Amino acid sequence: AKDIRIRDTNVFYSNFHALKDINLDIEPGEFFAFLGPSGCGKTTLLRLIAGFVEARTGSVQVAGSEILSLPPWRRDIGMVFQSYALWPHLSVWKNVAFGLEERRLPAAEIKQRVGAALEIVGLNHLGNRRPSQLSGGQQQRVALARTIAIEPKVLLLDEPLSNLDAKMRVQVRRELRDLQQRLGLTTIFVTHDQEEANTICDRIAVFRDGEIQQTGAPMQLYERP
Ligand code: ADP
Ligand code: ADP
Repeated sequence: AKDIRIRDTNVFYSNFHALKDINLDIEPGEFFAFLGPSGCGKTTLLRLIAGFVEARTGSVQVAGSEILSLPPWRRDIGMVFQSYALWPHLSVWKNVAFGLEERRLPAAEIKQRVGAALEIVGLNHLGNRRPSQLSGGQQQRVALARTIAIEPKVLLLDEPLSNLDAKMRVQVRRELRDLQQRLGLTTIFVTHDQEEANTICDRIAVFRDGEIQQTGAPMQLYERP
């Protein structure tokens, strides 16, 4: 079974050909990287998988269904954006609870899930703070907790470490890897940093000018001449 299956997909922004004949399979539980320089189409493919962008041709299936055939609340996909997009006027706890309240889950379940998600990212003690009272790394973890709390099957991360300093980046990416393995999440991690992709991902798709040039495990990609 493929968790994500993309076939012959082309995406245009009016006349601009942003993704060209994309074919890609991602297995359940894989930690996958989209690697390439700025402007080569990584975010567009992530948004396509999330159902935020429509392809002109081809097929985008997640867990066996065409993504756009499912209503948004049944897509089981969590996306963490490059800008964390936390609510500044809400506490950390309320930021994580927000998506669950929107889904009208029972209060007891919301409480349990928010507690568990904050525990995973190590922020249970900061639930009453506002985002502005947190460091960049802590805000990044709140954004992650908010997505984990929704319990998605697929986790999409758009350069989630780009705003962190070098030391924090190493720490958070290790935590991300642990978390992904513990929860068995199918994860796609967008980055322009080759070393980052090598360190934490099972497989990498290398992008260039709207195309996937090659796909493979880090060792397979770099042993080529
Ligand atoms: P990456 O994530 O690799 O930086 P993107 O997928 O964000 O690349 O963008 C790919 C190309 O599509 C870029 O040239 C970008 O300028 C263009 N693009 C992205 N979004 C839009 C949009 N909404 N309208 C028009 N062009 C866009
Ligand atoms: P409102 O803003 O609607 O008055 P509250 O902030 O009082 O809501 O919280 C609503 C629910 O969220 C309550 O069940 C409360 O126990 C829980 N809650 C809010 N903040 C926290 C927190 N920091 N730690 C644990 N539970 C919290």
